[in-house]
Parts: sequence; structure tokens; C-alpha cells
Amino acid sequence: MEFTKRRFLKGLIAAPVLAGPVLAAPALLMSQSEKAFAQAPKAKTYNDTPGFYHYRVGDFKITALLDGYFEMPTNFIKGYDEKAAKASTKQSYRRFTTGSVSVPVNAYVINTGKELILLGGGTPKFMGATLGQLPANMAAAGINPDDITKVMLTHTHPDHVAAFTTKNGSKAFKNAKLILSETEWNFIHNDKVRDASPKDFKSMIDYARAALAPYKADRQTFKGATELFAGITSSPLPGHTPGHTGYELNSKGEKLFFWGDVTHFSTLQFANPDWKVIFDADPELAKKTRHAIFERASAERLAIAGAHVDFPGIGYVEKSGNAYRYIPAPWMPA
Ligand SMILES: [Zn+2]
Repeated sequence: MEFTKRRFLKGLIAAPVLAGPVLAAPALLMSQSEKAFAQAPKAKTYNDTPGFYHYRVGDFKITALLDGYFEMPTNFIKGYDEKAAKASTKQSYRRFTTGSVSVPVNAYVINTGKELILLGGGTPKFMGATLGQLPANMAAAGINPDDITKVMLTHTHPDHVAAFTTKNGSKAFKNAKLILSETEWNFIHNDKVRDASPKDFKSMIDYARAALAPYKADRQTFKGATELFAGITSSPLPGHTPGHTGYELNSKGEKLFFWGDVTHFSTLQFANPDWKVIFDADPELAKKTRHAIFERASAERLAIAGAHVDFPGIGYVEKSGNAYRYIPAPWMPA
């Protein structure tokens, strides 16, 4: 199928409509958000340094890969307040911008010694010139796509599946098997859900179906919390999508929890965990899930990794008053 930036945006923006009265006027929001996207600062290209970073968890070697970033208009953030945003941005030592926030897109390769697992599949360039760099950064990190044995997903939104499939619809990772939650797979393959969805939402489901189609015969789905490999266990994080799932690594007493899209804004959502992104299928559940994992991560000093946490996206959650603070993980020999 043909994908265009417009279709992508329309699909994403329409997504929450499915879950209920999240967007009372999607058409209005649609035009507002398109305008906001158009007004957001645009970079022609983004290629400052090779975007890869190594990290170790016990016997697992992790390579964080940067796909790039996009500008998220602030009117996509439910609960956004500029004064609070300025305060938390200052606390994070990050540059404040009005009207939009730069959101990175990270993927990770987990080398278990037996498997080379790609977690997250990046975005195509048509979503913006500042994206679509997963293949180049994978090459820069010395990883051959043909050596990837598994492609694993936290959820099926377009910014995490696009690079799995070539333009002609075949596997971009030809020796890989697809791993994702059964709930998520069924969600996007339920014709009743699809057919009852608004037109724009259908295109989003179609996008995910097309991107995952070449892996259909060679997929492994799981339910709830399941040990998928020695030391790698799934952990349901519902809300952003029905089957949104985290993965917990545990090796030699060290842990890392990949939480996918629990947050989209490192400088905003730790300090303001009630703020939601309009792409949440069930925003209240997503908020509850975010609070729960923040609480656990802070109590256990658990290292986390996020698809939209500032690259390389690995760090810690600390309690700060009634909210939280993000602490990037320090560099260590990997
Ligand atoms: Zn995402």
C-alpha cells in the first residue's frame, strides 16, 4: 500500500476515537494539528553523529539506535500548561521551545549471545526528514539486518513498525521472527474493530497490518507476563494501545525494563505524569499504567529504557515531591 505523511498523521490523530469519547471533534483537531505541525520548526535533515550507544545488562549487550526525532505540537498533549512545561524543562536542563516538543524515536538491539533481538522498528522518512535513520545507524553500529533473529514490538503504531518491511512488501529482516502480544496482534487484525473505525483510523490499522504482513506466518504471540527467552519477560502496560507491552531484562542481578511508549516527553511527563498524549487509545488507563511503573521504577531503582525517552533513552526514575524526575543512566563500559 502507499503510505504518505498525511495519511500517517491522519491515522495517528484519529486513533483515540476508537476508544470512546476521547476526541469530541476529531475533524477540528485534525485541522488544528496539521496547522501546528506545519508551523513547527522543520529541519531539512538530521544527521549530526551516528546514533548508536552501547549498554550492558549482565550478559546482555544492548545497542540503542536512534531513528531520529519529530516535532510534536504541544496541542497533542492533554493537560499541557506552558508555565509547568517551562519549569520542568528548566529542571531537566533542556532547551525550551514554544508550540512543539522534539520527540526522539529509539529502537534497541538486544544481543543475548544466542539471539539478536530488534526491539522497535523505526519510522519511514516520509514522516519527516529528521526520521528514518534506523537502518543507517544499525549499519554504523556494525549490525547486519540479516543477523537479526527476532523483531519484537511494544505496540503496533507506525513509528515502531515501518522499517520492518521493504518498499516492495517483503521482510526487511529476512531471518527474523516477529514477537508481540496476542492482544495487540488481535487488536489490529479484528475486522469488526477495523470496520467500525473512522476512515482515518482504518488507515492506521491497515498500515500496521501491511508492515507486519510479511511476518504473519512466522510470528510468536504471547499472553500477559511470559518469559520469552532466558532472562527476558513480557510485562503488560495497557492504555497507549490495548496490547502495549514492556519487556524486562534480568541477568546476573542487573535489570533493564523497556517500557515502550509509557512516556513521550522526557522533560514533561516525569514532572507531570497526568499529562497524556492524544495517541493513547485509553488515556486514563495509560495514565494509571504510567503512575504504576514510575512508582515501581523509583522504589526499585530499576533502570528503564523508552522509545521516546531522550536518546539513548536509558535511565532512572526518582521521586520528586508529588511527581518524578528522570535521571539519564551514566556511561559505563559496555
Ligand atoms: Zn511511539
